[in-house]
Amino acid sequence: MLIIKDIKSLRKVLDKASRQEQKIGFVPTMGYFHEGHLSLMRQAKKECDLCVVSIYVNPKQFGPREDLKKYPRNLKRDVSMIDKENVDILFVPSDNVVYPKSYLTYIDVEKITATLCGRFRPGHFKGVATVVAKLLNMVRPDIMYLGQKDAQQVAVLKQMVTDLNFPVTVRVVPTAREKDGLAMSSRNVYLTAQERLEAPVLYQALQMAAKRIKQGERSSFQIVRSITNSITQQSQGKIQYVECVDPNNLEPLKTIKGTVLIALAVFFGKTRLIDNVIVPIKKT
Ligand code: AMP
Repeated sequence: MLIIKDIKSLRKVLDKASRQEQKIGFVPTMGYFHEGHLSLMRQAKKECDLCVVSIYVNPKQFGPREDLKKYPRNLKRDVSMIDKENVDILFVPSDNVVYPKSYLTYIDVEKITATLCGRFRPGHFKGVATVVAKLLNMVRPDIMYLGQKDAQQVAVLKQMVTDLNFPVTVRVVPTAREKDGLAMSSRNVYLTAQERLEAPVLYQALQMAAKRIKQGERSSFQIVRSITNSITQQSQGKIQYVECVDPNNLEPLKTIKGTVLIALAVFFGKTRLIDNVIVPIKKT
């Protein structure tokens, strides 16, 4: 595996690969890998000739009171974790490579960034869209792999790719979970033992809601209420939001008619966890 830190060296290797018509798969990450990240890399290896993974903890997607400084970082650990995954290139740019002092350009995807997490994390998706646009221009992949865990990020980046004509296919990989259902996240290391014990309630509540929808419940209000009740009765989790939305445009659904995305964000202590499920139902 090549570890590359600058754009010139990255382009040298990737230009050669492109000349040889190799298909390039790209997995953008903030590092501190878990099985979720690895599942994206495995999918990229399956479908592409070359797998490029980036690690960059993007300061522009963290709010002033968020966890940028203490976000877990450990390159040695990450390198040893992906050694067996046949990743071809690990791209690890530093802040001055991504945002030189003269930097002035931002990408603002409108509307769908104002709902769900965007309501509580102003500027977050502007930071995400900007860094991913930059990384796409650096790597120029054929396919970019994203996790369903971050459903709003998927919607925002798909919109950006379409709107700005990025020549890339977006592939979405299912959420990897711990045995007890907790969605894997680099932030899970922040949880105390008690919080970790309680956190699986999020997925349990989402699954129960999915079951109710499959049994015929069509009221978003009832679905949100049942999820909220489960979480507050079974844990100390403080709910930021629970919403039923259209998975493509993220518009709230009063009545569940087609496929629904149920998304939530809940604080366990200082740790903010997100999770979601997509429930497909046939239109009636
Ligand atoms: P992050 O390092 O958290 O920015 O995540 C990098 C990529 O991995 C994003 O596309 C995430 O959606 C994806 N990802 C994070 N957690 C999971 C998970 N549990 N399952 C699948 N993909 C994930």
